[in-house]
Amino acid sequence: MLLFENLKSINQKLLKLDGFEITIKREDLLHPTVSGNKMRKLKYNLEQAKKEDYQTLLTFGGAFSNHLAATAASGKIMDFKTIGVIRGQENPENPTLQFCKDKGMILFPVSRSIYRKKDTNDFHDTLKNKFGKFYSLPEGGTNLNAVRGCTEILDKSDEEYDVICCSVGTGGTISGLIESSLPNQMVLGFSALLNQELDQQIKKFTVKKNWDINYNYVFGGYAKVSLKLIEFINDFKKKFKTPLDPVYTGKLLFGIFDLIKKKQWNWGKRILIIHTGGLQGIPGMNQMLSKKKWPLIEV
Ligand SMILES: *Cc1c(COP(=O)(O)O)cnc(C)c1O
Repeated sequence: MLLFENLKSINQKLLKLDGFEITIKREDLLHPTVSGNKMRKLKYNLEQAKKEDYQTLLTFGGAFSNHLAATAASGKIMDFKTIGVIRGQENPENPTLQFCKDKGMILFPVSRSIYRKKDTNDFHDTLKNKFGKFYSLPEGGTNLNAVRGCTEILDKSDEEYDVICCSVGTGGTISGLIESSLPNQMVLGFSALLNQELDQQIKKFTVKKNWDINYNYVFGGYAKVSLKLIEFINDFKKKFKTPLDPVYTGKLLFGIFDLIKKKQWNWGKRILIIHTGGLQGIPGMNQMLSKKKWPLIEV
């Protein structure tokens, strides 16, 4: 299990201003190809799959999915065959799917209407007939094993922070953070999409109450961006030497800085921000931005 041994990332001080002390935990640097929270979410799943003698991992995702890329890369390192069921058959060649293929993942694109039925027994049987026995990981990788992996993001030295902030998609990462937080710490999630079921999802994994989700920095929807967001990401990289991705961490940092600037920060001032990674998605986003003749995210 070499891939998942001694996972520990560095805390980088960003700034001290007006009593605020802002630090970012660089989970994006955990591994060169299996970034951030997706590595945490895969750890106990791949350990279980090995223990139960599975040879194949199968999972689901959109054409730019960080989870697909992480599954392909870690599957290759740990000697699993990997299969990716891809949402939408119209996918052009894009850097994420190319990366998955390079790591040996078999791609199985299906129409959006079929993809919607991905969690039904019928579809599972179809997949089983086609690919044989596999260990199934849900879209985004969130399950109990994933949450357990994410409880290992925080360590003893993080007990000094008042607030822990992260970006939220399916809610697995924040659930792990909540579970490992202290009662006096606030865990604040910034949602990357409008997801009606998110609160319910998180409540499946934790009974603690020291958390909240902010939906004001979704930027119109999942993987949607604005010129202001791109400018923020590029400025942030220049100023703090820290790259952000446009789908998750860019929106998170934008939100935190915006709330502080508008004096709407209602929590403690010692803030730990989790950089969950996702940088592999930048070339794919830039491909779309250049088609629209928009400014690109600088790499
Ligand atoms: C997947 C992802 C998230 C969201 O994690 P969830 O556990 O689905 O909430 C946040 N940041 C990055 C970079 C991701 O890739």
